[in-house]
Amino acid sequence: MTEASAHRYLIALGSNRRLPGVGRPRAVLDAAVAVLAEEGWQVEAVSRWIESRPLGPSSRRYSNGAALIAGDLEPCEALKSLQAIEQVFGRERRGQRWRSRTLDLDIVLWSGGAWHSRDLAIPHPAFRERRFVLGPAAQIAPHWRDPVTRLTVRQLSRRAEARA
Ligand code: AMP
Repeated sequence: MTEASAHRYLIALGSNRRLPGVGRPRAVLDAAVAVLAEEGWQVEAVSRWIESRPLGPSSRRYSNGAALIAGDLEPCEALKSLQAIEQVFGRERRGQRWRSRTLDLDIVLWSGGAWHSRDLAIPHPAFRERRFVLGPAAQIAPHWRDPVTRLTVRQLSRRAEARA
């Protein structure tokens, strides 16, 4: 029997570049889920991938989705794990903010409530306005409550859709 993980994270995944040898953005997201599992995360649920318009000046369309992952890492270590996976896929963290991204992994919520440190804010500061995060997240974690607004992910998703 395996021990239960200490923490759960709801993460957002995004890609807007083909990766040679892997394929188009949605294949990059599939590959990212496989690497999360290889890195020791228990992947409990994965949403369908959606296509969304680019943020900022990049003209490439994004594929986006969400996953529920469990593990023993505390938030700062979890972020480092996700950033190491981004780097496996060749994302550079320098330069223009909205440059095209092979893989972007964000922590949206975690089981410990709110978290603020120098490099990390949970809930993710922008997630309540991002339909491309909330739609997929509502598929896999509809009842998870945002510790700040006390609204569920499904309620936040419906609110964001109504405002669009
Ligand atoms: P971005 O380029 O939008 O993915 O932002 C990356 C930076 O945002 C990282 O250097 C993180 O330190 C910081 N950050 C703050 N909060 C979060 C979060 N909840 N998930 C991922 N990155 C975060």
